[in-house]
Amino acid sequence: MRSSKKTVAFSKAAVNVFFHILTKCNLSCRHCYINPDEHGQRTLPIETIQKWLKLFGDPDQEVNVIFLGGEPTLHPHLAQAIHSAKEIGYHSITVDTNGYLFHDILDKVTVDEVDYFSFSIDGATEKTNDQLRGEGSYQACTQGLLRAVEKGFATSVIYTVSSANLHELDQMPALLAKWGVKRFFIQVLGIRGKWDAHQESLNQVSQKEWLEVVPQVAEKAGEMGITVTYPKVFLASDEPFECAGLVAENYFIFPNGRVYHCPLCEDYPIHAHALVDDTLKATPKINENDLFHLSIPEGCVMNRLIQPQNISYDADGIPTHKIACCLLKEEVRPEKDA
Ligand code: SF4
Ligand code: SF4
Repeated sequence: MRSSKKTVAFSKAAVNVFFHILTKCNLSCRHCYINPDEHGQRTLPIETIQKWLKLFGDPDQEVNVIFLGGEPTLHPHLAQAIHSAKEIGYHSITVDTNGYLFHDILDKVTVDEVDYFSFSIDGATEKTNDQLRGEGSYQACTQGLLRAVEKGFATSVIYTVSSANLHELDQMPALLAKWGVKRFFIQVLGIRGKWDAHQESLNQVSQKEWLEVVPQVAEKAGEMGITVTYPKVFLASDEPFECAGLVAENYFIFPNGRVYHCPLCEDYPIHAHALVDDTLKATPKINENDLFHLSIPEGCVMNRLIQPQNISYDADGIPTHKIACCLLKEEVRPEKDA
């Protein structure tokens, strides 16, 4: 099968709600970005989840919700939250899971309600995955994934690329095809959260390594009938730069009520909005919104501030490339879907 690649511009029509309903998790992945000091330790009561879902949902608009944690299936009322999102009229409902699928979630929701169960796997082999995500997690996740496929749910896999697992990425397309996975999300390791404690052994890959491997693997998966999404990361100097914080509508909601518009800001108390008394309120200046308006030759301001090692400069001090917004993606689709 042939495939085709395109850059997916930010959709001005769609709204994406990334809803962390708790921060608790049964795993302790080496690169986990959850930061309880900044995101809270609360498991949101179902009544609060329902109220917040109503605030962002709009049946007349394309609003997508992604339930996240921690591990969202640890929430005893996730199924109820999914039913509510469906009733409110969310355009699509996704659950990002580590695969343990607690509370028999697959038996409590239907394929009409959940558009995707998205499973996090960080290695093609048990050894590599479990070094990053914890002993037993590969078996648990792949078994959970296969159960979801067997029940007729659409599934996707999220693979966070780092120096510890780039070498196994090219084995993934064949595995995904064998498992019956429909979508593959390749992500970049974030220089944040628990990564700090593991930076000796866990690193982002270089631009050269990324460009040598990721686009080719995506193409291979596309040829096998799988849609692949991966961050664009590097922009040529003549490619336009846009900050999603200014041109798209994304809400990253945490159990402590913080609402961010940029995932790179999530480790700092600079959220532009907060849920106070179940109402969305703008926060006082200075917040992430003020950063989005800064225009710099390096592209993404937050990347320049927190991961400047991604940027290289020529002899005149001019950046050799811009860093794209972390939300700008390349998408490879099987030709029949393109
Ligand atoms: S499964 Fe997700 S939330 Fe849990 S430790 Fe791993 S990365 Fe963090
Ligand atoms: S990652 Fe950079 S470009 Fe994207 S929203 Fe955040 S600050 Fe803007």
